Amino acid sequence: MAARILDGNAIRDSVLEDLASKVEQTTRFGVRPGLAAVLVGEDPASRIYVRNKIRACDRIGAHSDTLRLPFETTTAELLAVVDDLNAREEIDGILVQLPLPGHIDAQRVLGRVSPDKDVDGFHPVNVGKLASGQPCLAPCTPRGLIEILKRSEIQIEGRHAVVVGRSNIVGKPAAMLLLAEHATVTICHSRTPDLPAVCRRAEILVAAAGRPAMLTREHIGDGAVVLDVGINRLEDPAAVQRLFAHAPKRLARFEKTGSTLVGDVHPSDVAECASAYTPVPGGVGPLTIAMLMANTVAAARRRTPAGKSTRA
Ligand code: NDP
Repeated sequence: MAARILDGNAIRDSVLEDLASKVEQTTRFGVRPGLAAVLVGEDPASRIYVRNKIRACDRIGAHSDTLRLPFETTTAELLAVVDDLNAREEIDGILVQLPLPGHIDAQRVLGRVSPDKDVDGFHPVNVGKLASGQPCLAPCTPRGLIEILKRSEIQIEGRHAVVVGRSNIVGKPAAMLLLAEHATVTICHSRTPDLPAVCRRAEILVAAAGRPAMLTREHIGDGAVVLDVGINRLEDPAAVQRLFAHAPKRLARFEKTGSTLVGDVHPSDVAECASAYTPVPGGVGPLTIAMLMANTVAAARRRTPAGKSTRA
């Protein structure tokens, strides 16, 4: 039977629709969720990411504010900007776009964001809460994985999930969230012996290694659900030809543009072996910004009467 494609764009749209109606409700009661994006320097990719995040705010009716600071901004100046945003009542989420210029102490800056407004879920307080199973703002890409599974009505509880990758922004929090959903979780990394055998035991396989098409049919158990977090840009025509021989449209687009994206999972092997999988692009990626919006709306709860009463 053909594998089911888990369409991240469609899932993102339905998440944003739900958030838009939540925002409409809270705004009626005087609380309009607000996100501040801080962009330091002129990195073109960062500018695009920030623009997309602001567009998503517009789409759900949230307030947004972009602070553009020059490349020369010092750590002290950026800390002062963060302090100001921490104090602003109408700002619920603070997003410091990474990477920051090398002369800025990024850890200090991220650690200065109030944990209540840490919509990226990177602050040690939120990391600790996630690890100890307390409600918190969790990192967006891993939250997106859970959202994809839930909205696709794929059971998590009781299933064996294998996560390939142990980074602080994807692998580890993904494992924590799957555990919180009662999966049995195995985390793999570059020192894991016999990776294919471990992966083959997965009923839910999460690929977050940052290695193009690394997981092949020998890693995918029959009928596994495969979530591919990897985003790798390929420019080598021979590699593209090898990976996408089955996808003439993709090859034609590559001819025109000179590059294409591939995940960490082999694109035709996964289509043959999995029961369901996220494509790249159009799978996990679109959920990341949607979950940033979800975190912003959740953070705004602290200003609602219900949020205030639970904090009292
Ligand atoms: P990192 O490079 O920080 O981490 C990669 C992890 O994979 C490490 O834990 C590493 O192990 C492990 N790994 C690398 N090679 C192997 C191997 N051969 N066998 C087993 N494990 C291996 O990457 P990130 O977690 O930041 O990102 C992972 C991927 O997800 C990237 O492609 C990135 O572009 C993408 N990404 C996508 C997002 C989205 O919105 N869809 C958001 C964030 C990331 P070790 O710790 O031992 O070195």
